[in-house]
Amino acid sequence: MNKKITLTSKILIGLLLGFVFGLILKQVPEGLIKNTILLDGVLKIIGNGFTSAIKMMVVPLVFVSLVCGTSSMGDVKRLGRIGGKTMLFYLGTTAIAIIISLVLGSALKPGVGLDMSGIVSGEVAIGESKSLVDIILNIIPTNPIASLANGEMLQVIFFAMLLGIAMSIVGKKAEPVRVIFESANEICMKMVNLIMLFAPYGVFALVCNTFATVGTDAIFALVKYISIVLLGLLIHVTVVYGGIFKIITRQKIKPFINKFSRVAAITFSTASSNASVPASLEIMEELGVSKSVRSFTIPMGATINMDGTAIMQGIAALFIAQIYQVDLGMNDMITIVLTATLASIGTAGVPGVGMIMLSMVLQSVGLPLEGIGLIMGVERIIDMFRTTVNVMGDNICTLIIANSEKEIDLEVYNKEESIKSLV
Ligand code: ASP
Repeated sequence: MNKKITLTSKILIGLLLGFVFGLILKQVPEGLIKNTILLDGVLKIIGNGFTSAIKMMVVPLVFVSLVCGTSSMGDVKRLGRIGGKTMLFYLGTTAIAIIISLVLGSALKPGVGLDMSGIVSGEVAIGESKSLVDIILNIIPTNPIASLANGEMLQVIFFAMLLGIAMSIVGKKAEPVRVIFESANEICMKMVNLIMLFAPYGVFALVCNTFATVGTDAIFALVKYISIVLLGLLIHVTVVYGGIFKIITRQKIKPFINKFSRVAAITFSTASSNASVPASLEIMEELGVSKSVRSFTIPMGATINMDGTAIMQGIAALFIAQIYQVDLGMNDMITIVLTATLASIGTAGVPGVGMIMLSMVLQSVGLPLEGIGLIMGVERIIDMFRTTVNVMGDNICTLIIANSEKEIDLEVYNKEESIKSLV
């Protein structure tokens, strides 16, 4: 009877309870208890406290783990090979994701026959989207300390990789610094383990707060749009990820899925790829992926790989085009694929940025930016799902690359299958 519930199960229970209590709380009339004590009080402290604790770890972890990952690659040639494969996977799957979304959006037409009067448009606060040239130039930091302080992830990645490459070229003389980074990495991971113990409560509070605020009204109004986005995400996960994983690694995917549910609960509740880096690194370690691969591909993926976001952008672009009755030709579709793929590099792994980048995609084919207001009401919910797919892509890529480089202990990986998620 004295069965121990695993952390993953506890987090999933927290997620489920958060959803149920959130919807119940939505029905409670506005007032002191609901608004001041619960939503802006207890739930906020627990939820935001947890998110802050994870965010606290993101910059140190990404920096330290990338330096360790790059410097332990051995030689620059190997780094180039792994880096090349990683980029190919990340950009390739993103392009496939948009193509899937354009096909679905054209075939199922989410914006046709929609009664726009019932749609909750909400406030449209579209942030500035950067131009592609700016995004590329912005990768090179002029002041790396400022990049670390401001959490500019692309700049942190650039600096960390250059540092790691230099360390591996310097070799023996860089050994003392490498040892310090290795030790810092261990310590950061331990901090993550400790914070994760709090995850079930944090996830509960975040999800409860979201559903108590958003509710389900907006969902019903946009049910067709949401269903098509979810269908796109599902196809991408099962056919593209599942297919590529099976074909390339010839391994069972179940051990990964069992572990990934823990990460999914975090991505779902925080809607942030960055915030998932600690949990992804944790499960990749538990699945037997070597440190040099996981500490390279995971932070990189969280920053540049956004397949779920790309799917949302493709479908949203067609949805808006259909509502405003704009005909998009083949050239426009190709422009959308290119823009959204490149935009994914510049999309920060934090909530809502995909929507800001959507304005860049819309602009590239001359669609009205006001269209974004139509889908704003369900933005957070879609963000929860698309972020989960974004992060799943990072994890799948890590497993595939680790497998192709023989950097995964398959015995450890397959052992996971025998451990049921509810031990
Ligand atoms: N929230 C997403 C992520 O962190 C980005 C986005 O689509 O808004 O991956």
